Amino acid sequence: MCLTTDSVEALRELVRRWKRADERVALVPTMGALHEGHLALVRSAARHADRVVTSVFVNPTQFGPDEDFERYPRRPDEDAALLAEHGCDLVFLPDVETIYPGGSLTFVDLGDGLAGETPPSTGMEAAFRPGHFRGVATVVAKLFNLVDPDVAIFGQKDAQQLAVVRQMVRDLHFDIEIVGHPTVREADGLAMSSRNAYLSPEQRAAAARIHATLRAAAEAIQAGTRDARAVREVMRDSLSAEPLFELNYAEIVDAETFRPVDTIESDVILPVAVDVGGTRLLDNLRVDLPRQESRS
Ligand code: AMP
Repeated sequence: MCLTTDSVEALRELVRRWKRADERVALVPTMGALHEGHLALVRSAARHADRVVTSVFVNPTQFGPDEDFERYPRRPDEDAALLAEHGCDLVFLPDVETIYPGGSLTFVDLGDGLAGETPPSTGMEAAFRPGHFRGVATVVAKLFNLVDPDVAIFGQKDAQQLAVVRQMVRDLHFDIEIVGHPTVREADGLAMSSRNAYLSPEQRAAAARIHATLRAAAEAIQAGTRDARAVREVMRDSLSAEPLFELNYAEIVDAETFRPVDTIESDVILPVAVDVGGTRLLDNLRVDLPRQESRS
């Protein structure tokens, strides 16, 4: 059975009851408008824990003033029905006042480290969405405190977000296991996203180029290319060649630190973002080096 609640008290009471029975609790944070990508995370959560809580909350603080917060798709009833079929025990559907009581004055911001290290919330998405990761880190910290899960599942599709969450969990001593789940794709390789619904048929067809570009770049690295600048240029040329795309970025970053590299000496992630007629599409591929070569 899958319950739905917007109440913190009801959520806490249920989670406490599960924990008293020694049950392990997983959290899957989402913004709803669920697709097969989200549902794969929920099924994975059910393999990692005895109980699965899925939160559905369109978080205002991670949207910029000119972004799609108002028109972001909201389908709570459909989402709850889907979650019930995929092994979710509780859907937490809070409103904005519940998550940001009285406006809420405390935020989680990643900054430079003690030795001046730049955080994974630097560049890429952060350059195009100022304040985005502050909103993400804040809402994830709040959900962790509200749900008190043993494990939380995030999609590798949002690779920079996953790196930010892992960093925050380390830095703030959350005793929560973070699991990254592989990206779920459409048949032509396009990463599933709630925002794909914004695309016209022509834009949707063009969007397949993103994954094709990433695969070609990953194959070049697997074949031995170590010059990240050269691979980056090929990715940028390939994405810029599509007239419906406006390239936001195509990078090669260290898989652990999320910092761009010039030479590929360890496992890397290739994050890209393109604007397709006002819809931003993100994707990435991770390329692991042969073990004898990799530092990590
Ligand atoms: P969202 O509702 O877009 O905030 O996403 C909620 C969670 O689902 C995040 O951890 C995303 O990374 C993950 N997610 C979204 N799309 C996919 C996908 N195609 N494959 C795997 N995970 C995904």
